[in-house]
Amino acid sequence: MPAPNGGPAPAGAGQPNVVLFLRDLTSARRLETMRVDFVANASHELRTPLASLVGFIETLQGPARNDTSARERFLAIMLSQAQRMTRLIDDLLSLSRIELREHVVPTQVVDLGPIARQMVETQSALASERGVRIAFEAEAGRYPVLGERDELMRVVENLVENAVKYGGGTVRVGLARAQDDRRGAAQIELVVQDDGPGIAPEHIPRLTERFYRVDVASSRQQGGTGLGLAIVKHTLNRHRGRLTIESTVDAGTTVRVSLPAQEDGPP
Ligand code: ADP
Repeated sequence: MPAPNGGPAPAGAGQPNVVLFLRDLTSARRLETMRVDFVANASHELRTPLASLVGFIETLQGPARNDTSARERFLAIMLSQAQRMTRLIDDLLSLSRIELREHVVPTQVVDLGPIARQMVETQSALASERGVRIAFEAEAGRYPVLGERDELMRVVENLVENAVKYGGGTVRVGLARAQDDRRGAAQIELVVQDDGPGIAPEHIPRLTERFYRVDVASSRQQGGTGLGLAIVKHTLNRHRGRLTIESTVDAGTTVRVSLPAQEDGPP
């Protein structure tokens, strides 16, 4: 390409602008595709229980009008479908609320210790119904991080619930003050480990995508929406935290969350 003054063009002159423009276009297209996919997936996820509700209502108005036992069964299914839609809408709203504030770093110091302990207690009932034991391990002391209490509760709840639902056996939840990260900042690390069936490696990079599930039927059966880990990821982005998932098929899954540790204030 000739230079504007007619002299020889330096190697690569003009290239970066063109490349940048193409890149912008590509990323704009990618964002648009993601948005369209998201709307299509969300609509599909809502449409499925809705179609089932309509089907049962029509049956109850028609062929099963006078069948008392069918009515009871159908009403129970209809209730669970309506609850599924409620869960999905709640998760969609949580995700969009978190995304809106993703660039706003929380300013309050909270202690992750009581949050983790409380969520482990909350999940223990669900766990024992399924024959799963949850063990909580943390050295005494505080685990201060900058954070939004409710959002961090949701992160711990999601990870422990996943370990109970998809993992099983014994679920170990641990809190530790970790080594400094590469930038020299001290970290607080939450580890949730199960000895369940594990996750094949090809799924792991996609787990935090919205609606991505390893086994859709099993997630639905467990009441999952496919949005849990997406919510975790965006919450951690806001908290300047990091999520890592390691898994071995037939051995179990370990999920680690690291958050920058804060100076401890008065208890
Ligand atoms: P869901 O609402 O389906 O639970 P998540 O985003 O929380 O959605 O998780 C996505 C998928 O990751 C789950 O559907 C499940 O297939 C898989 N998964 C998550 N945690 C585990 C785990 N501890 N062991 C095995 N699979 C898991």
